Amino acid sequence: MTRKRDGLYVWVTWLSRMMSGEVTCHWAPWFRTHYTGYDRAPSDFQVAVWTAQHTQLLDEIARERSGLGEGVYREDQNQFRVRRASGLVIAGKPDLIAIDREGQCTVYDIKTGNPGHSDIMQVMLYMLLLPYSSAVYKGKSLMGCVVYKDGNRSGIPAKAIDKDFESCVTYFLNILESDTAPGQTPSPAECRFCELTTVDCPTRRHSDGSEMTPGNEPEIPL
Ligand code: SF4
Repeated sequence: MTRKRDGLYVWVTWLSRMMSGEVTCHWAPWFRTHYTGYDRAPSDFQVAVWTAQHTQLLDEIARERSGLGEGVYREDQNQFRVRRASGLVIAGKPDLIAIDREGQCTVYDIKTGNPGHSDIMQVMLYMLLLPYSSAVYKGKSLMGCVVYKDGNRSGIPAKAIDKDFESCVTYFLNILESDTAPGQTPSPAECRFCELTTVDCPTRRHSDGSEMTPGNEPEIPL
């Protein structure tokens, strides 16, 4: 049952999708920051397939980095929580962190879907936040890498984490922790992938977006 959280809480991917413009309805991440216990829309078989592909790819990268003599830390080993002065907690779980013999840390994230800006944003958030989360990463400049299922990799240099990026993160965190909810912007394209249900978001659009499919557009009498 939906209830207010005891303290504000943000999962890194809510923030990365918002910052990248992948989620334009800011009400959804704002709601999840302030409330918990809400019903979630069921995931479909495709998510199960992506999960299996993700696990396979993660195994391959872990073997590759271990083979190079690097220390490898996976998923639950990497889970972290950091806290803003306001009390808002930000949590995340990088797929894999590798530490080479010189102590250089690289954060890897595996993506089995289509590449998007939020993939890079998510890893940049890990690179920004991990040094605050643990003595292991304190004072270190982390590098990042997004690995796609076709084998392509997008490397992210440590210098990408600069003051401009920090200001951007601050801007979006301020939206999420505000007492005032942002407006909802329902659309078939976005609502169909949103995990909130009509129990909490009555404005959710029921359309399956089929009119957006080429060849399936409604006819007009003009
Ligand atoms: S269902 Fe649609 S309108 Fe409601 S929170 Fe999700 S994206 Fe926004």
